[in-house]
Amino acid sequence: MADSTFEQAIRQLDKALGFYKIDIESEQRLRSPKASLSVSIPVRMDDGSLKVFQGYRVRYNDLLGPSKGGIRFHPDVNLDEVSSLAFWMTFKCAVVGIPYGGGKGGVTVNPKELSLLETERLSRGYMSAIADFIGPDVDIPAPDVYTNSMIMGWMVDEYSNIRRAYTPSIITGKPIALGGSLGREDATGRGGFYCMEAVRDTLGASGKQLRIAVQGFGNVGYHFARLAHEAGHKIVAVSDSKGAIYKEEGLDPVSVYKVKRETRNLEAVYCQGSVCDPVDHTRLTNEELLELDVDILAPAALENVITKENASRIKAKIIVELANGPTTPEADEILFENGIHVLPDILANAGGVTVSYFEWVQNRQGLYWEEEEVQKKLKQIIDKASAEVIELQKEHRTDLRTCAYISALKRLNSAVEAKGTVRDYSVRR
Ligand code: NAD
Repeated sequence: MADSTFEQAIRQLDKALGFYKIDIESEQRLRSPKASLSVSIPVRMDDGSLKVFQGYRVRYNDLLGPSKGGIRFHPDVNLDEVSSLAFWMTFKCAVVGIPYGGGKGGVTVNPKELSLLETERLSRGYMSAIADFIGPDVDIPAPDVYTNSMIMGWMVDEYSNIRRAYTPSIITGKPIALGGSLGREDATGRGGFYCMEAVRDTLGASGKQLRIAVQGFGNVGYHFARLAHEAGHKIVAVSDSKGAIYKEEGLDPVSVYKVKRETRNLEAVYCQGSVCDPVDHTRLTNEELLELDVDILAPAALENVITKENASRIKAKIIVELANGPTTPEADEILFENGIHVLPDILANAGGVTVSYFEWVQNRQGLYWEEEEVQKKLKQIIDKASAEVIELQKEHRTDLRTCAYISALKRLNSAVEAKGTVRDYSVRR
């Protein structure tokens, strides 16, 4: 039987532990979640019937601070997936050095089948079900796949009602009017873009114009594509759950996204003002997009899309993992042997949680920052973390994912050691 996603995540940790030994007590604390919650959420549907949805919240680890991680609405959500995502959040926050542990949540639902009012009732019901499990100093949710700032707004409102106190710091990724941070909307894509720019020369993808393919054209994939396009790179392909569009001369991501939002369809278009005209293009499957001969491949949808089945056919020079867990451990080995660099998710998509951290800081201060300040601070953090990972690669001569884990392990291990381990307690007096 194939490994579960969580077993695959643990294999990444095991690999890093082969290169960098940590205290056995740290290792024990990192191998399983601190607390997991399963809830059922009864929701009154528009036709008067009642549906009960399954939801989860996992607080994986809080060695470095309260756990932090998004909420996903997707038909495939299950406890294994949520635990894996919470595990990755633990390492992600540690790689970029922000004072958070890792958490994650989700509801098993196809959000495309819900009306807006049903989505609101489900969002409020989920928050009500997990309210005692989270808290601004305990566990702080955020958006993830198929959840957005409006949903975060309903959730913060629900939590504040439950607590009878305005509590913006309970959740991040909120609308600006409800205590959100400027610069949060595009933070994950922006962080991925900064990371790519910080390391690409070292990884042999120098030159002014890179050819880029993006799988998954939602919040993260779009903003990454937009920023790369603004910087002069060519976005040759993008996709959504139904398939991909490809144009060798490059697509205009802003036009494509505008039409996608209006029509829910991914069309190759070019817009001037409100007038959008179709442009010549080729339709591809998601699988074909992954195998395009490009400089940069950016998976920005779901887990396990680059596997041992297709890894040997990947032709990109660098994979920028904007999604969480898009590459399986077997695929990692094949890519490494083939000289393809993988900028790992725990670094490449850490921009989102970094600006979520800024949002939480602003909420607690009651003092809000300009967007330029947010972007400047984000760039400093991503540049520093990327440089640390590249340095570790020179030292350990292994793949970037393992080096990112090593960087995170150093911080996590220090926190365990600071609290005292058997070495301290067994000293004879
Ligand atoms: P989103 O819901 O805005 O977009 C997801 C996109 O993926 C949509 O365009 C959807 O059509 C597409 N998609 C879904 N199934 C697909 C499939 N089988 N093949 C190809 N495309 C498919 O979600 P998002 O917030 O952009 O998140 C995307 C990824 O980034 C996820 O893995 C998420 O965990 C990760 N991530 C998001 C954030 C954040 O701040 N939103 C932060 C870190 C990581």
